[in-house]
Amino acid sequence: MSPPFGAGFAAYPATGVASDLAPAFGVYVHIPFCPYKCPYCDFNVHVGASAAEVGAYLDALAREAEWWAARHGPFPAAGSLYLGGGTPTMVDPGLLAGAVARIRGVLPLAPGAEVSVEANPETVTAGGLAALRAAGANRLSVGAQSFSRPVLAALGRRHSPEDVRRAVRAAREAGFADVSLDLIYGGPGEDAAAWRESLGEALALAPEHLSCYALTIERPTALGHAVATGRMAAPDDEDQASKLEAALDVLQGAGYRHYEISNWARPGRESRHNLVYWTQGEYLGLGAGAHSHIAGVRFWNRKLPRAYAADPRAARAGEERLDPAARAEEWLQLRLRLIEGVDLAEARARLGRDLRADAEVLREAGLVRVAGGRLTLTRRGLLLENEVALRLGG
Ligand code: SF4
Repeated sequence: MSPPFGAGFAAYPATGVASDLAPAFGVYVHIPFCPYKCPYCDFNVHVGASAAEVGAYLDALAREAEWWAARHGPFPAAGSLYLGGGTPTMVDPGLLAGAVARIRGVLPLAPGAEVSVEANPETVTAGGLAALRAAGANRLSVGAQSFSRPVLAALGRRHSPEDVRRAVRAAREAGFADVSLDLIYGGPGEDAAAWRESLGEALALAPEHLSCYALTIERPTALGHAVATGRMAAPDDEDQASKLEAALDVLQGAGYRHYEISNWARPGRESRHNLVYWTQGEYLGLGAGAHSHIAGVRFWNRKLPRAYAADPRAARAGEERLDPAARAEEWLQLRLRLIEGVDLAEARARLGRDLRADAEVLREAGLVRVAGGRLTLTRRGLLLENEVALRLGG
């Protein structure tokens, strides 16, 4: 398949909401290496790669970008570049910066583009951050997860709360004006006080952005196995709902804008790259297991780094084309998770059905409000978002 680049991108109305910040096109770069595998993680992650393997992989990333540019370019300037993983901060910063420079050479960035790097607190160094800044990185997303030592231990994380503070200090010293912290709530052994303490400690670092995700247990992980064999209790829905409520109170009280069900930001500091996904925008994913969405086609690369690096031009492992009805339903599910909610006229045009009758039932149940032609979740609706999505889904 060779998609005509740019066809199929949907324009969104200028309503002055978070989705307006979504770039039309973003680039994702997957760094699949980690120093160890966390017991809850089901990402495409590999442990124990040699320096030679990592070097070959970084070279392959640049070769894949160069192949795309030669075969399908020129590309529009990307509004976001996201280095995720895995642990991008564990690879040689000079080599990573070199790969980023080659990628940017063929996939140019728009002026003011967001360039994010995911960081594991224990692998952040001043030299590494300086190299990333020199390569154009302007946003650091730090995987803090918790500020409680017992909770970090239960999650299998080897960093300490002090490592997170040190990483954020180092990011500021390196000139990162945008720092995001990732937190996980509802993990084993975390009581309400520990979660509130984590939120408070996170706020003390004054991040521009926070992501708070409920721990989910995936079957093929160590925690999934522990739950399946009865060695660990599954996360409790009520407990997780009350922790989401605590996050709503604490973060909104501190002046953060809640813009997606799991994400808060200082106004204007929303994650541009994630907004590409949440608005069904176009993105090119480079690397092992990376997903792309171009011209209505979703496709993904083979997962094993070694196989990927052997020939990144032949990396594609599969693809799917969402039919218009499935795409419209996906749009609805994503818009429900965005706090700006669903424009009912746009929903009708996209879905070919009217949501107003179902919306009225949900409004009476206190789960949504409808005002100005827009449906948004109430606080109760945020806690029961799955039920709202099921009710409105086609
Ligand atoms: S550091 Fe992140 S990507 Fe790596 S194993 Fe842990 S959770 Fe997964």
